[in-house]
Amino acid sequence: MSTIAGMPHILHEETISSWLYRSTLRSRYNNQYLAGQSFMIPPPVSWGGPLVESSDWDFDPNTDFLKAAMENLAIDVNYAAALFFNTHGRVVDWARRWWFCAQCLRADIARGQAPGWRKHWCYRDSIVCSTHGADLHRLQVQPQLSRGWDAFIQCLQDRLIDPAWQCQNFQRFRVSVVNRVARWKLKQGKVTLDIFDNLYSVMLLAPVYNGNQGMAYELFGEPGPLIRLAMPNYLAGIKYGAEFASMKARFASLLLAGYLMGIVGDRDLAFVAAKDERFEAWRRYNLDLVSSMRFGCTSKLDFKLLESLLFGRGELPCDTLNRALRTYFFKLRIQ
Ligand SMILES: [Zn+2]
Repeated sequence: MSTIAGMPHILHEETISSWLYRSTLRSRYNNQYLAGQSFMIPPPVSWGGPLVESSDWDFDPNTDFLKAAMENLAIDVNYAAALFFNTHGRVVDWARRWWFCAQCLRADIARGQAPGWRKHWCYRDSIVCSTHGADLHRLQVQPQLSRGWDAFIQCLQDRLIDPAWQCQNFQRFRVSVVNRVARWKLKQGKVTLDIFDNLYSVMLLAPVYNGNQGMAYELFGEPGPLIRLAMPNYLAGIKYGAEFASMKARFASLLLAGYLMGIVGDRDLAFVAAKDERFEAWRRYNLDLVSSMRFGCTSKLDFKLLESLLFGRGELPCDTLNRALRTYFFKLRIQ
């Protein structure tokens, strides 16, 4: 984007709202349009559900903010689409993009740039940084346009809190599982991808008013997600669970979904068990993992919704998942 005088260099994988924000930090930047912006958080687009949904100032070029910014800065729409707006997965709401890689932010500073927010931190299944292979950290303040700076300030004080989880072998293993799933996804059609993503979300179910949180929270002894009010129904729990999940719960959900879809095997689970006592205890208690799978349904309506999310119109592509669902549905019917 060298044609826009005074704008900062676009960082690898940077979101457009981060880039626009960083441009306002330059004292020599004289664009009247951006200088006059108040840079608050995006306006809500929906108050209907249990949580407010915001305009997406990173991935939706049709928001008023981005339309005006592109017009005023004479940014080519096609160029911006290729650079900023294409996604390769499901993203979380703009105001709940709070996971970041501390090493990326430090590297920005070391290169003389203001720290920028990256696209690959914004997905529902973002777990490790795709550049550094490091665990993502959680921003402790409300995400704003300035979140790159806020996160950098915070990571100056962050410390390691779980030596077992951060042991080098285990970290390498997590990166290899994340990469394996990503490679597998590249070869799948839309139906299979949707089933996988839905399964991942079901395992991260946020607590529903008449039910518990998803199974992924139990694998590493994780408490349920920090949501002030339980979700009103199964669909809302599935929709928002991943947005509030910790990195451990997200990784647990990736393992479970990967196991059910045949991407993760028994040897992988044995490796995790050797690294994490709680996981080992969970595995010892659930000897037949496939028939122990729970999908969080508490009513016939939930059951129908789960069927529609996983079955689609065709046969499920994986025998393990078929068996797990058959056993689960059978147990539900006899209760
Ligand atoms: Zn990084």
